[in-house]
Amino acid sequence: KAAVGIDIGGTKIAIGLVREDGMVLREMEFPTNVDSGPDQALNKMVQHIRSMYSVEPNIIGIGIGSPGPLDTREGKILSPPNLQTWHGYPLVKKIESAFQTKVKLMNDADAAAFAEYYYSHRSGYNHMMYVTVSTGIGGGLILNGKLYEGALSGAGEIGHMSMESCGPICGCGKMGCLESFSSGTGMMNAWKQKLTRLQQPIDPNWTGKDLFEQAASGEMTAAEVVMNGVDYLARGISQAVQLLNPELVVLGGGVILAQPTFYKQIVQRVPSYLLEHHRRNLTFSIAEQGRNAGFKGAAAIIHAENY
Ligand code: ADP
Ligand code: ZN
Repeated sequence: KAAVGIDIGGTKIAIGLVREDGMVLREMEFPTNVDSGPDQALNKMVQHIRSMYSVEPNIIGIGIGSPGPLDTREGKILSPPNLQTWHGYPLVKKIESAFQTKVKLMNDADAAAFAEYYYSHRSGYNHMMYVTVSTGIGGGLILNGKLYEGALSGAGEIGHMSMESCGPICGCGKMGCLESFSSGTGMMNAWKQKLTRLQQPIDPNWTGKDLFEQAASGEMTAAEVVMNGVDYLARGISQAVQLLNPELVVLGGGVILAQPTFYKQIVQRVPSYLLEHHRRNLTFSIAEQGRNAGFKGAAAIIHAENY
């Protein structure tokens, strides 16, 4: 038995054929080409899925993870900022009409969270929070052993929790979101602003890697930005922990996976913001599903009868 998982992003679309135990039988990737609209991407998806049917004729369903906002009941992409030309696109209907099988659309961070839950042997935990720190900050929740999507599948959007009333402007349009302080881009912006104010030189090719390298080597502005990033993230996570009382917090995303010290600092800092009661039963863990978490989780939703 195998399921197809699709991970739609603003840059690329990844598709995998995934066995029930998490083994990836086939995977492929192509650029989203947002400017060319959704139909050309749909054609490529259909073509790739068709080729997967020749590997495994018994595909039990197709799961799709996409950035939100989504209408998961109608199977439509609503208004993700990085998929401008896709707004209102009835993706589920289009895929259903090409393949007579179950198709399910979900938030991309929910899919990644579910992959961590389902394939990383974490089912001993009933309540798990997943946080991904990359270009942005996303999250997903497993509560009572089930994926909690919320009313409009917008649950777990920890990146857009308001941390300051007058903070930096976030990609979502609000001010002072957690993402604007602690994501890869948020920290880069903060660093460049600090350097500009101090009239220090900025290399336009710098990435998050340079920020962390300079911070580690004792460059003060970089160190301050990273410290700030840690502190805001620890506060954001602790507030969510206080609200939901999870047993397990899994951290993933490009920044966490590349920077083990950043991860450690966050884990050390969270408890100082928690009640003793919430601290006692809390475990932290680094994400294990890597860059395939998106499509693997979307496939896992199809495999799991009761998610
Ligand atoms: P995406 O958000 O598309 O999933 P990634 O998970 O790779 O992509 O995250 C990209 C972010 O990670 C960028 O903000 C980038 O600056 C940052 N980043 C990339 N490499 C490193 C690194 N070695 N150390 C710290 N941050 C990094
Ligand atoms: Zn925001």
